[in-house]
Amino acid sequence: TTHLVWLRNDLRINDNHALHAACRSENARVIALFIATPGQWAQHNMAPKQAEFIWRSLLDVQQSLAKKGIALHIAECDDFTASVALLQDFCREHGVDRLFYNYQYEVNERQRDAAVERTLFDNDVMVQGFDDSLLLPPGSVLTGNREMYKVFTPFSRAFVKRLQEGLPECLPAPSVRNAALDEQDIQPLKAFDYPREEIDTKLFPAGEQAAIARLREFCQQPVTDYPGQRDLPARDGTSRLSAYLATGVLSPRQCLHRLLKQHPHGLEDNQIFVWLNELIWREFYRHLLVAYPSLCRHQPFTRWTRNVVWRKDPQQLAAWQQGKTGYPIVDAAMRQLNSLGWMHNRLRMITASFLVKDLLIDWREGERYFMSQLLDGDLAANNGGWQWAASTGTDAAPYFRIFNPTTQGERFDKSGEFIRHWLPELRGVPEKFIHQPHEWAKKNQQRLDYPLPIVEHKQARQQTLAAFEAARKQT
Ligand code: FAD
Repeated sequence: TTHLVWLRNDLRINDNHALHAACRSENARVIALFIATPGQWAQHNMAPKQAEFIWRSLLDVQQSLAKKGIALHIAECDDFTASVALLQDFCREHGVDRLFYNYQYEVNERQRDAAVERTLFDNDVMVQGFDDSLLLPPGSVLTGNREMYKVFTPFSRAFVKRLQEGLPECLPAPSVRNAALDEQDIQPLKAFDYPREEIDTKLFPAGEQAAIARLREFCQQPVTDYPGQRDLPARDGTSRLSAYLATGVLSPRQCLHRLLKQHPHGLEDNQIFVWLNELIWREFYRHLLVAYPSLCRHQPFTRWTRNVVWRKDPQQLAAWQQGKTGYPIVDAAMRQLNSLGWMHNRLRMITASFLVKDLLIDWREGERYFMSQLLDGDLAANNGGWQWAASTGTDAAPYFRIFNPTTQGERFDKSGEFIRHWLPELRGVPEKFIHQPHEWAKKNQQRLDYPLPIVEHKQARQQTLAAFEAARKQT
């Protein structure tokens, strides 16, 4: 018999449910397939940097699979619809009897998978799917009324209780089947027809071993400092594991087990738990996506916020995208995103708030732009983050709580170290004025090659409050 593992967002050999199940029978021939769908990726605004990251991860996982005697094939078709027929042909051609895959929870992905199951069933291929990208499956952490939580803190509490009852298992990599593949049997992978952009491989080295090494290092010391460091973008205080988690090069169970190995009381210890709680945010947004599929269609969670009349201002949107708003912390953050494909969490909150609450531009514009740049682009987390910042989501910041971009900068990048790194044009501005450089320029009659603020915060704030209040009155 032949078992096919269909790799998607699970580009690893350790703790991979589908791969593990496919390898359970010693006699089966096991092969693996990845299907690139450039047309679909474009529809989903996938970042060229993420495409590069996936490409590098595929090269790595191909080598790891080959060492286990499993050949990885790459195929390409335009979109998810076409991938159903492609998979059918592939199964016929390779005499596949059983298909193993790990679930993806977004609506297009789920529709595709349902079509695959129907089609292959008709072709006598048995199909088996697994919950794999989460610590606990969607729908397994519910309120007393058997509903999905709409507020994070009680969700997190219930989640931890479930973990205390029993930890999800972390599965080993499969053992070698017959023999490892010879070098000449490893198919050179054909590059997919999607734009790819260079990434900083020092910060984001590709592959499972690099991810595991980073996780180990982070769980030793940095995780204990995380509560005090995580809001300071100039520090390297967070794990920077998001891209690996988003593409499945690393699993959340690996994170949990590593953390508890290093800190056995991690579930109770307040300091250590702070990081684990972020992984639970990741779970929360994925569970929500399954409970409320309209989130995948970019609908706001809070209905009345549909009535907010957003401003259309292509020039200001472009200034925000390019990091030219005249607010140093916002601009430094956007340049970090454009350059690295990654942005610090505190800055994601500040820049998202700026677009929505200072420019009154539709949060979906920001969501789309982030997706088009992020290495760690992930629909659930990105949508969750944007709806949180826009006050349209579940358990979101209330609409009248509006970040002041200048004071946020003063709080979280006091000395301006982060700003100076990303905005070389402000390097000569003294610390005291780094968050309001034009004041210094005016006082000292200096010319700055840096834009004036594109909006006045106080005024913008009033405008946004009025827009939200008008929307609320309509309901
Ligand atoms: P750490 O602080 O080390 O956290 C560990 C892991 O927990 C992260 O790798 C991530 O997988 C998860 N995590 C942390 N914070 C969150 C959160 N608020 N929501 C969901 N998961 C979280 N994260 C993404 O992975 N992809 C996105 O597309 C994304 N878009 C965002 C958009 C906005 C507007 C906001 C406010 C947040 C977004 N986040 C997104 C969440 C968060 O900013 C990143 O996960 C985090 O900055 C990644 O850095 P890290 O790996 O060092 O995180």
